[in-house]
Amino acid sequence: MEKQLASYDPSSGELLGKVQVTSLEQINDKVDQAHVAALNWSKVGADERVNTLHNAYANVEPHVDELAILLSREMGKDIRRATGEVHGTVFGGPYIAQAALEALKISILSVGTTIEYKPLGLVAVISPWNYPLAMANNLILPALVAGNTVIFKPSEETPLIAQAFIEKLNEILPPHVLQIVYGDGAQGKALVESNVDMVAFTGSQVVGRDIMARASGQLKRLVMELGGNDPMIVMHDANIEAAARFGVASSFENAGQMCTSTERIYVDERVADEFEKRVVELASAYTVGPWDMPGVNIGPIINDDQHRKIIEHIRDAEEKGAKVLLGGVNHPARYINPTVISDMHPDMILEQEETFGPVVAISRYSDIEETIRRANNSTYGLGAVVFGGKEAEAIADQLEAGMIGINQGVGGAGDAPWVGAKQSGYGFHGSPDGHRQFAQVRVVNR
Ligand code: NAD
Repeated sequence: MEKQLASYDPSSGELLGKVQVTSLEQINDKVDQAHVAALNWSKVGADERVNTLHNAYANVEPHVDELAILLSREMGKDIRRATGEVHGTVFGGPYIAQAALEALKISILSVGTTIEYKPLGLVAVISPWNYPLAMANNLILPALVAGNTVIFKPSEETPLIAQAFIEKLNEILPPHVLQIVYGDGAQGKALVESNVDMVAFTGSQVVGRDIMARASGQLKRLVMELGGNDPMIVMHDANIEAAARFGVASSFENAGQMCTSTERIYVDERVADEFEKRVVELASAYTVGPWDMPGVNIGPIINDDQHRKIIEHIRDAEEKGAKVLLGGVNHPARYINPTVISDMHPDMILEQEETFGPVVAISRYSDIEETIRRANNSTYGLGAVVFGGKEAEAIADQLEAGMIGINQGVGGAGDAPWVGAKQSGYGFHGSPDGHRQFAQVRVVNR
């Protein structure tokens, strides 16, 4: 019997719909079809591919409102944030396509040598649930512009929003250029091991390692955007109001389920009382609830495992001597009330691992060198933020992360790369160099 993948509203538990899990046989069929489709797609030329992609995205535009509601219901984020993600994906798609087109143009070296960007073949795009459209879109688009075909495996938590989006694109795209595979890690593994030429992945470190191991036999090309445990340092001469506002907003964004959310805050002890007081005031004003509740800004946690993990991190901190200034271990099912914890220590899970929940975790420091060591003492290196005066730049320079924010968040402007250092990433996407990772570079002498 065909296996079904059910999708539920994470706050109410209501069944939203089902898709058919893609069998291993069907995955192999899709891979074969994708290689055949690649023959034409790679030949039509990048300008025509981008033109087709513009038309495909225009075809989604009339549906942005229904997509936003579906994204909210399936993933739990409030309708304002879901609308932002859908708009960014659908209206921003053509800009990414255009930027990739520019990045992949032939360049001529003065000695009569050209550098060309050819398709790799078939790219598997495997994505997480926390930004189910945006994360996938960032990888699918440069892969298609470069002339590859794509098989996309969305998270098992968010198959319906992926299906709705891809179906609209596929009303315009040629057959089998962009296909979808439904399922969990089993389908992800099968896809990585199938006859794909590249795996573009966004998700956890642990799965990233598994993908690298499985891809190693054929040395498949990899781009992997992985988890984070982002530190924030608040110096004695920081603007405390701005730092507190950023620290709370970044820790609570998307109910803390964001790869670059602030996970650990180190604050100079001279300003720690003032900072903590303001953090608690700001955090207390957050409203927890389902996506359609007026004024809600912290939605449900995606599943029971993740909910349990966040509570375990909070409990471990409490048992090891941390102070709970707000929230704590008692939360209704699938929700975590805004939580603020002080006296975080290096032996707490909260400091060592990615919590991925709406928790502000604070530690006071007197020695900045020791604090920099603590901030860097992690296999992660996605983002890092410093709030402070004229020394902030020098402190930021010593932090081991791919994206740095000085008196502001990380992320950069326009077509900046989205890049992790250490085990937060392998390769990267965005920016001309990022787009080129979806192509085979060729040097031709004439
Ligand atoms: P996950 O790694 O558990 O799953 C991601 C995807 O991989 C899912 O589609 C899943 O089905 C699939 N998968 C699971 N096991 C697999 C395997 N062995 N081989 C191939 N595919 C497999 O991550 P998640 O829980 O969906 O997402 C949360 C994680 O993603 C967090 O760690 C977060 O920091 C990270 N993330 C990183 C970024 C970034 O840009 N760096 C962005 C968003 C999320």
